[in-house]
Amino acid sequence: MKKRILIASLAVTFFGVLLLTLLFTDVFYRNAVDSAEKQLKSYMNFFDADAPFTQEEAESLAQKTETARVTFMEADGTVVADSYAAVQGQTREDREEVHAAIADGAAYAVRASETVGKNMIYYCARMDGAGGKLVRIGIPLDTEFAFFVDALPSMLWFLLLDFLCCLVFSWLATGAVLKPMEQLTREFATAKGRVFTKYTELKPLAKKMNEMNEEIGRKVERMREDGRIEKLVLDSMEHGIVIFRSLSDVLLINRTAARLLSYEENEPIPYFADDMEITDLLAAGESASLYRKIGEKDYNFRFTMGEPNVLLITDVTESMAAARSKDEFIANVTHEMNTPLTSIKGFAELIAAGAVPPERVQGMARTIIKQSDRLANLIRSIINFSAIDSDELPDCEVNISELIAELIGGFEPKLRQKNIALKLDVAQGVKVMSRRERLVEILNNLISNGIRYNKEGGQLAITLTGGKEPRLIVRDTGIGLSEEDKTRIFDRFYTVDKSHNGGGGGFGLGLAIVKKLCRRAGWTLKVESTLGEGTAFCIEF
Ligand code: ADP
Repeated sequence: MKKRILIASLAVTFFGVLLLTLLFTDVFYRNAVDSAEKQLKSYMNFFDADAPFTQEEAESLAQKTETARVTFMEADGTVVADSYAAVQGQTREDREEVHAAIADGAAYAVRASETVGKNMIYYCARMDGAGGKLVRIGIPLDTEFAFFVDALPSMLWFLLLDFLCCLVFSWLATGAVLKPMEQLTREFATAKGRVFTKYTELKPLAKKMNEMNEEIGRKVERMREDGRIEKLVLDSMEHGIVIFRSLSDVLLINRTAARLLSYEENEPIPYFADDMEITDLLAAGESASLYRKIGEKDYNFRFTMGEPNVLLITDVTESMAAARSKDEFIANVTHEMNTPLTSIKGFAELIAAGAVPPERVQGMARTIIKQSDRLANLIRSIINFSAIDSDELPDCEVNISELIAELIGGFEPKLRQKNIALKLDVAQGVKVMSRRERLVEILNNLISNGIRYNKEGGQLAITLTGGKEPRLIVRDTGIGLSEEDKTRIFDRFYTVDKSHNGGGGGFGLGLAIVKKLCRRAGWTLKVESTLGEGTAFCIEF
């Protein structure tokens, strides 16, 4: 800035000085010409009009004027006498002043003289009393350029002085201008609040700075808020996420991932270091998907390697358990389907080959029908389970007290078969919002389980209470459940005793259907059981 002000002031003053010098040179020159003209006129007065136009006269006139050159000419400009050079006989009619004097009577001219070899000012007058002869007096006069050259040293001194003045001025000016600016900038840089200035010119700047400060403050606050929200979102995610460059260079880790990987801030991730497969993966920089068990749960580790690397940890316990149950189910179904199918096919082939005595055909046909029923039962269970999801029928009021009374009759043969005592404690007129077929499915499953897993001569108690929160309890005194089985019996296709599968229609889908229906309806399903003593299922409607 200082340099710019110096250059600008120097340029302005330099051209100023130059212009001024030219102007003064011109003025002085004009003055010089003016006074020379006056001088020449006064010299001309020394000339006696009656004097002869001789060389002596010319020289005498020249002596009177000391420095002037005197020339006498005929009326046509032919030189008669000249005090400076012997140019008699030559014509000077072509000279500007002579030419003009012949025409107008008197004239001045400033020009370079060929004869004298200098710049001269001439005054030529026509002497009308002497037959129009011409008298010319000339004195040396510098050119305007010579005047300027004469002025140059003074001008250079002046410029030097000007340079010094500009130097001081720019220093003072920048000091004066920059100081408040510097002060304002300093204040802006350290300002916690608003900046102020007493200088009117800087007030708009201070205002703009304050507006910017406020805007920046708002943006920073918003970024902080965004950061907080981001952290909140990441931390509340049930998935774990880690963004990292290496084991010890973790850019971002959310709470779930930190907990699962036992991560401590500024420490390498111990889980990665302990797992050879992950260590190799990181070394190779290959993206991969791994499965790991941490505690009781199964997790999927999806590594996406890049700059930086990203790890997404997903809890896949449920889907893996479902996949396991499904595998088990497929194995069971295959097994269960195979058994009746083998016997159906075997008996049918024997009958078709005519290898069965007629008295045994009926028995074989009954076996074929029984095995077909088992197959149909299995298929019905599967269809039932998957149909729940697509059931969009609207709910209606169902009298569950009446429904129990209706259904229980169907179980009497089985109860008698196992000699099980039925204890009914059913409040009348209890209604729930559902659909009849769903409640039939629930009751059938719970009651048939209460019989199937009961002991010979055991007891089955069905209790229904009314009121605002109706509750159904189906309690048996059967084989009961272990603690582990208690948590798994609601899983699809889970059966405690695999050997009974299909026997009596159980494929591990009954309670899964009950649970699914209860969850859809928003009812609470609980189980209480002691191994060897009995089980109670409770639904709070
Ligand atoms: P299933 O059709 O095989 O009975 P469920 O889903 O109804 O299938 O039951 C799953 C498993 O839970 C059964 O195989 C059985 O081992 C156990 N279970 C169900 N109800 C009872 C009960 N009342 N007492 C003891 N165990 C039971």
